[in-house]
Amino acid sequence: MPEKRYLMTPGPTPVPPEVLAALAEPVVHHRGRDFREIYERCLARLREVYRTEHDVLLYTSSGTGAFESAVANLTSPGDRVLVVSAGSFGERWAAMTRAYGADVVHLRLDWGETPEPDDLRPALAAGGAGVVYLVHSETSTGVVADVQALAAVAKEAGALVVVDAVSSLGAVPLETDAWGIDVVVSGSQKALMCPPGLAFVSVSPAALEAAARSTSPRFVLDWERTRAAQAKLDAPFTPAVSLVRALDVALGLLLDEGLEAAFARHARLGRACREGAKAMGLELFSPDEERSAVVTALRAPDGVDATRVVAELRERFGITLANGQGDLKGKIIRIGHIGWFDVFDITTALAALELSLGDAGAEIERGVAVSRALEAYAERAHV
Ligand code: PLP
Repeated sequence: MPEKRYLMTPGPTPVPPEVLAALAEPVVHHRGRDFREIYERCLARLREVYRTEHDVLLYTSSGTGAFESAVANLTSPGDRVLVVSAGSFGERWAAMTRAYGADVVHLRLDWGETPEPDDLRPALAAGGAGVVYLVHSETSTGVVADVQALAAVAKEAGALVVVDAVSSLGAVPLETDAWGIDVVVSGSQKALMCPPGLAFVSVSPAALEAAARSTSPRFVLDWERTRAAQAKLDAPFTPAVSLVRALDVALGLLLDEGLEAAFARHARLGRACREGAKAMGLELFSPDEERSAVVTALRAPDGVDATRVVAELRERFGITLANGQGDLKGKIIRIGHIGWFDVFDITTALAALELSLGDAGAEIERGVAVSRALEAYAERAHV
């Protein structure tokens, strides 16, 4: 039998067959009618998923391209910005804004901490930060921050708010307009159930005004160039037309399920994963809370190397989980449950983990994780 593979990382994520089938359609010309129809629908669906009335700009790039567009369009050399980090992706904002010559106030929390509004207040009170860069779902730790509350504090101080929602858009509630978030950055390969290769950025009118004043050099990532072209359904450069076609199908699937239903499913998947893991005796690294519905991070038991466990799961069972990043490498195991996931994906991951950890000598209670996960999944979500 050909090897069966299970992709359970926090991105890329599994792609449904309807979306894969769209990728096999003939390539169309990006300035022709066939593509324009797909492009128009896809941009409208993106706005629906983002819950915004404003433009969502689409780039052929990984998520970091949209990330960089935010910095290049909003931050000129010498500008003061505030970056809040508590993991790898927050630190990326800090590194990138520094690379653009910004005067960066870096509120650097330990990896795994949850940023709170009170953490931001003193940094904002010092004054001068025109833009605040935040992370919604910190994929390296499993923490999902309350960006509504964080954005409110930043807005009070008169700053523009930029949020990295690469791993959260479509998985946990995010109200771009209602929460007053100026810029939300995301990518195709997580809850949006597509292969990697497309990146998105929503831009509020205030963000576009600020971009008009920014002196940082940019060309491909220039917001105004893409906005003006999109307004005429004419991409400024050749987009990955097959990926856009696939994204259109994937967004259709997500909207057919309904965003609220998708949020509730993710909350239940996260809960099932945490409860199953705890039942077998594992300690959570990510918070034990309903909002933590994107990635579950588990501490490797004493004496067990997470790197070896992850490699063994791949070799023995064809299951790909994620190792920790940075200093957490070898110390935590991350199970992604974003996008095209159901509870049997969770029980598969837990059952295999149970076998591997048991064989590695960890004290694991056998046979309880799966039933506890199923039981927890059955409870209603509180999102
Ligand atoms: N931000 C977060 C929270 C992510 O999870 C990722 C991807 O892993 C990124 C940014 C970067 O996206 P990409 O790898 O598509 O450039």
